[in-house]
Amino acid sequence: MKKKILITDRFAQDSFLYLQQHSQFEVVRSDNPQHLPLEHLVSAHALIIRSRTKIDEELLKKARQLQLIVTCTSGFDHIDLEATQKWGVTVMHTPTANIESAAQLTWGLVLSCVNNIQAAHKMVKAGEWNRDQITGIELAGRNYGIVGLGRIGSRVAELAQAFGMNVVAYDPYQEDEVFERLHIPRLSYEEVLKTADVISFHVPKTLETEHMLNRSQFEYIHRGIVLINTSRGSVINENDLCEALEKGWLRSVGLDVYEKEPLNRNSNLLKYPNLVLTPHIGANTEDAFFKASQIAANKLMAFFVD
Ligand code: NAD
Repeated sequence: MKKKILITDRFAQDSFLYLQQHSQFEVVRSDNPQHLPLEHLVSAHALIIRSRTKIDEELLKKARQLQLIVTCTSGFDHIDLEATQKWGVTVMHTPTANIESAAQLTWGLVLSCVNNIQAAHKMVKAGEWNRDQITGIELAGRNYGIVGLGRIGSRVAELAQAFGMNVVAYDPYQEDEVFERLHIPRLSYEEVLKTADVISFHVPKTLETEHMLNRSQFEYIHRGIVLINTSRGSVINENDLCEALEKGWLRSVGLDVYEKEPLNRNSNLLKYPNLVLTPHIGANTEDAFFKASQIAANKLMAFFVD
């Protein structure tokens, strides 16, 4: 019997054809990632999804044949993992697909922050030329602090080293071997916050990382620091961040992720000129999209065929 695969969101055409050509699969695409067609859901053996498809108990109750969910994302925030475990559905993700893209966006934010590119751009567009108002800092010789030296954090660290920065990191769970290979000293969280000129967060969303940057840390964080978060919005307490910004403790901030997404139009974060904000686009490159689709197809193939 053929295995039915329901693709619920954007998926690369080449990877779609790769699956479709396999005689063991019937591959179906749905137009609306939020409302899956019941006639296919009830008979699907696998779902290929992205973050717009929320997997909860209600959906799993209907998908009685379901064995596998592959999400073309690195996070699982849109999937109720307790429920999938309860219903015996295997869940896989594609975290390696967007390492390069997320690291690159992190650096896009760093450079935009340290060279004040956003303000400069606005000025030129407004027909002004007040060059003295736009002053940056050089990165070479300064300290870059990484919180979470995993896949993306490690790549961001390599890029920082290419800029001639001294990289330090905090990651209580990472192997010593990774720190040694990258020639990065392992510091405590407090030491990183106190020494970094630029700091970026690359940790998962967990109970432990929730609001790991809050008022207590802002009290002693290196004054004039550039703060970047492309990991998960829950990591930073946004109210406390606004307080620190009011006090002038931060040079600039680059954010791709927020406590609540989409960011509320009335969010206080929108008040500050020294913030660069992007709408959770860390994985949004053509390349990451193609890689995620093909990795998902390979994982699905390995699950059912190999
Ligand atoms: P990863 O699992 O490879 O690395 C995470 C690292 O964080 C690990 O080394 C882990 O040991 C460390 N860590 C865990 N808890 C920690 C803690 N309390 N303190 C310090 N370190 C801790 O993950 P990754 O693929 O590098 O992704 C990092 C983050 O980036 C994730 O939150 C992911 O969802 C996010 N992400 C965002 C985008 C985007 O679009 N902005 C794209 C890709 C990934």
